[in-house]
Amino acid sequence: MKFGTKAIHAGVEPDPSTGAIMTPIYQTSTYVQASPGDHKGYEYSRTHNPTRDALQKSIAALENGNHGLCFSSGLAAIDAVIKLLSPGDEVIAANDLYGGTYRMFTKVFAKYGIKFHFVSLEKADSISELINKNTKLIWLETPTNPMMNIIDIAAVSEIAKKHNLLLAVDNTFATPYLQNPMDMGADIVMHSVTKYLGGHSDVVMGALVVNDEKLKDDLAFIQNSCGATPGPQDCFLVLRGIKTLHIRMDRHCENGRKVAEFLKDHPKVENVYWPGLESHPNHEVAKKQMKDFGGMISFTLKGDSKAEAFRIMESFRFFSLAESLGGIESMVNHPATMTHASIPREERLKIGLLDSLIRLSVGIEDADDLIADLKAALA
Ligand SMILES: *Cc1c(COP(=O)(O)O)cnc(C)c1O
Repeated sequence: MKFGTKAIHAGVEPDPSTGAIMTPIYQTSTYVQASPGDHKGYEYSRTHNPTRDALQKSIAALENGNHGLCFSSGLAAIDAVIKLLSPGDEVIAANDLYGGTYRMFTKVFAKYGIKFHFVSLEKADSISELINKNTKLIWLETPTNPMMNIIDIAAVSEIAKKHNLLLAVDNTFATPYLQNPMDMGADIVMHSVTKYLGGHSDVVMGALVVNDEKLKDDLAFIQNSCGATPGPQDCFLVLRGIKTLHIRMDRHCENGRKVAEFLKDHPKVENVYWPGLESHPNHEVAKKQMKDFGGMISFTLKGDSKAEAFRIMESFRFFSLAESLGGIESMVNHPATMTHASIPREERLKIGLLDSLIRLSVGIEDADDLIADLKAALA
């Protein structure tokens, strides 16, 4: 099955009791048993729910994986992965991560005795030096948030395999339409479903996809034991969102290109970070592992004035100033004070996350209106 067909059909069957073409919202906490233990595979909705099952199958199919697991947020999905580890275990993580991921690693799990090393994973060689007998997991995002760096998944996977480490890839920015990390050797693919998979800024949810049966069992055990599962109504909304993922992404990419080209030539703009630009340092890797380059773009201003960045962000008509991304509507964010405020200033300056950095989530509106909006705001 090709992607567009999977987006519409994978995981969903007509409802067995009525033939309903849309998966019903099984709004139930429990299931009646004929006698103790005599049930149809459903006992309690934290453990299993038919609406969630359909969504988990759909997301697994989109990522070319065998098993999907949904969580009540993207961070809850990451939390489940780290709970596979034990005190003393070490993680090698990319140094350019979603702020909430960094916060969870450093402020929550570090105190449980798990050690995190943050490094630039763009040069795969730098990983090997950090590996020791306690290393268990490599965690990365690509493209990264908000610097839009590209990490060569296949190259990192080769190292992970050589040392018997798990490789987890946060695929939120690329989506399964543009990039499938499992095909490049990742063991775990993670999504903030809140973003492009849901796609309509109306749900908070996370997901994991794995191939290995034991890994699935371990994660399902954590999912059920710790209990951060999504409700059926949210699962339904995401099932609905996924049906248009491929056509939304085509438009996000097309608009992303137009906006990046416009910004690149603008006299007030210093740097534009978008992997589709030939000037992007890892454009070739992006071309190799992504189908297209997406609608996430960051840029800095000449002179790096935070006040000027604020003025621009406050004067948009169509780019809503908001946390989050990946919805049909365009959004703008100031990472230094919003999504990435939990990263110390010195740390973020090291990766180029300057005070004037503005992050755009380019939506699927008419590109002419978006460019006009940018032109007016930057004037
Ligand atoms: C938003 C986001 C997360 C966290 O997901 P939530 O659904 O907000 O919990 C993780 N990684 C990336 C790349 C994100 O953009």
